[in-house]
Amino acid sequence: MLISLIVPCYNEEEAMPLFYQEAARVAAQMEKSHGAEFEIIFVDDGSKDGTLRVARELHDADPRVRYVSFSRNFGKEAGIYAGLKAAKGDYVATLDADLQDPPALLPDMLDALLTGDYDCAATRRTTREGEPPVRSWFARMFYRIINKMSDTEIVDGARDFRLMSRKMTDAVLSMAEYNRFSKGIFSWVGFKTKWFDYKNVERVAGTTKWNFWGLLKYSIEGIVGFSTAPLLMAAGLGLTFCVLAFVGIMIVVVRALMFGDPTSGWPSLVCIILLCSGVQLLCTGIAGEYLAKTYLETKHRPIYIAAETEEDLDA
Ligand code: UDP
Ligand code: MG
Repeated sequence: MLISLIVPCYNEEEAMPLFYQEAARVAAQMEKSHGAEFEIIFVDDGSKDGTLRVARELHDADPRVRYVSFSRNFGKEAGIYAGLKAAKGDYVATLDADLQDPPALLPDMLDALLTGDYDCAATRRTTREGEPPVRSWFARMFYRIINKMSDTEIVDGARDFRLMSRKMTDAVLSMAEYNRFSKGIFSWVGFKTKWFDYKNVERVAGTTKWNFWGLLKYSIEGIVGFSTAPLLMAAGLGLTFCVLAFVGIMIVVVRALMFGDPTSGWPSLVCIILLCSGVQLLCTGIAGEYLAKTYLETKHRPIYIAAETEEDLDA
């Protein structure tokens, strides 16, 4: 039984050795308890620091460590995809390099899969301690909105930390879309999932790769990727304004017939024009967002480009 650990890394030279130590400890323990063998695949996502060097060193020291190094930064979602593709394991886990996804949970997760009742063991945070309150608030809003809009359930607090069977891994790989939103993809493919709760852990070293705009973009990507409700809302908004305009025209015409047409009321006119053009631009923008995604999707660009793997090093 081989278990693949997939670790997307962007500028994680400090965290990687710590991750490796912890993963190796858990691997040794699980070799005894479950007879499991391990491979650790670091995906260097175009890092600017020594991530690739550390990956090479770790591979030299321990052949169980493999790596894929991207030609530039493609984002964590691409990293996960590349890792899943490279993985040879019967079971495949995705974890962050900063030990915020504790490998110590793996034995319990594997036990759940070995019962045969589940194809996936997933984790979610029960607390958001150590996170700025504003960020937590936006996160909660995001989950509420996306779950209203999308038929695919996106679990609040769910991490990308999962252990999956080979069946589910292949299903995820079969979704070769360019705009990847893993939280949605994992849920979309289905399969029985057992959830593990744990308290938020702070990263061991390095800094978070997320800022407010990054997260906002990520959440829009998630909504556009797994719901077309905004398009319907745009159409609904357009319809509402048409009805309002029709009623308005009636009132204006009747009033003009009854009382004549004194030239006044331009401030309200300006407000109406501004409001309507604003709504129009918003709706065009929403439609444009979907068009943009379609555009990128139809180009069939590769999700990532690997510049080097451990096979290149060995050759
Ligand atoms: N990551 C990546 N590519 C990116 C950004 C992040 O591979 O462009 C990796 C990062 O190295 C880490 C994981 O994704 O292993 C999660 O990132 P981070 O810890 O910064 O996010 P947070 O835990 O703060 O949400
Ligand atoms: Mg982290």
